[in-house]
Amino acid sequence: MLLPKDIIQDGHPTLRLISENVTVPLSRKDKDKGKEMLKYLEMSLDEKTSEKYQMTPGVGLAAPQIGISKRMFACFFFDGKEDYQFVIYNPVIKEKSKEMIYLKTGEGCLSVPGKSGHVLRHKKLVVEGYIYNNLDKSLDYKEITLTDYAAIVFQHEYDHLDGILFTDKITEDYEKYEAIA
Ligand SMILES: [Zn+2]
Repeated sequence: MLLPKDIIQDGHPTLRLISENVTVPLSRKDKDKGKEMLKYLEMSLDEKTSEKYQMTPGVGLAAPQIGISKRMFACFFFDGKEDYQFVIYNPVIKEKSKEMIYLKTGEGCLSVPGKSGHVLRHKKLVVEGYIYNNLDKSLDYKEITLTDYAAIVFQHEYDHLDGILFTDKITEDYEKYEAIA
């Protein structure tokens, strides 16, 4: 089980590495690690477990944040329309909209505690990769389209795979773009 102590913080060199592709077919170890990352997010969003283990609520967790320099991350959230609970391995962003948006409340990160800021993100993405869907337990190589909140979370997590933190991208020049609640 992952615990808050397993999450590395800004300043740790692993957060700044370009992560390596995950080997395919996926190993048992990488599959299990993905599920552990999902479980961590689920527990962090549950009032009882987050209090018990003193977890900060999180909707995304990338492998580099637990010290593993591999191209995989987990997302766990409801965007108001749809539940997203998945791990993506070797994600590729195939298309991104020109239109930019930002998260109204500002972004935060489990690896940068206590900090938030506005970051411009693409409104719509077409991505592909090996996706483990926690809702139906399927694992397939597929293409998905993400918009608004889901696209923001995806881009934040994807950046971790390239050693980029949201704090690198904070801008004060966001108000002319669309705010996503
Ligand atoms: Zn982050």
